[in-house]
Amino acid sequence: MRRKIVAGNWKMNKNVIEAQQLMFQLLEYQKSNAVNCEVWIAPPSLYLMMAKDLYENDEIGVFAQDVSEHEKGAYTGEISADMLESIDAEGSLIGHSERRQYHGETDSHCNRKIKIVLEKGMIPIYCNGETLEQRKSGKHLEVVKNQTETALFTLSAEEIKKVVIAYEPVWAIGTGETATPEQAQEIHAHIRSLIAAKYGQEVADEISILYGGSVKPDNAKEIFSQPDIDGGLIGGAALNIDDFAKIIEGFN
Ligand code: PGA
Repeated sequence: MRRKIVAGNWKMNKNVIEAQQLMFQLLEYQKSNAVNCEVWIAPPSLYLMMAKDLYENDEIGVFAQDVSEHEKGAYTGEISADMLESIDAEGSLIGHSERRQYHGETDSHCNRKIKIVLEKGMIPIYCNGETLEQRKSGKHLEVVKNQTETALFTLSAEEIKKVVIAYEPVWAIGTGETATPEQAQEIHAHIRSLIAAKYGQEVADEISILYGGSVKPDNAKEIFSQPDIDGGLIGGAALNIDDFAKIIEGFN
């Protein structure tokens, strides 16, 4: 059975009081409801230690939104995998489309970041997905294939099993326009078949592939019910407890 996951990407939102409040609400929700999936959050790095302190029994997985590809040294503003490991963070998002768009990240950067996170025994959540232009010109399958191969296919079978993939079509992020469950399923199955061709079906069947891009309370259940979709990476709707809880309930 693959892990079922609902992960909240808070992006650059919330001051410390607001962040603490939402973390606390999530814990309360988690304790008092039957939750049928793992619940993870990726708050701004400034709040990672606070989250780890609050979730002392690892009730909720705590992830960074990005990690440096370098081990340590003169890289102002960056956070290393070693630092994340030292606070017991579960891992990091890698290659989110906003990192690619505004910070020039490529799949080769992602590949190095994924390796460095795996070396520390943590979980990389590798994000990929095509732009609107690429989809309109019918290149989406090819784009996602190239992204997947460049970022992941230097890993060993044992390593790739530990990666979580988040397919996030760029045109669906924060736009209110969601991929249909069928569109998402098509790409998820495609990614899984690429992994199966390279590493074998057994390895491919173990890897959780999340969908991200305007997942909301009213579409989560249908998206999560697709055979190759193992959960969601949620942006806007992860910023308040009611919406996020309803999305988690998509697994009920
Ligand atoms: P969204 O963001 O849910 O606001 O579309 C998803 C993401 O960027 O991870």
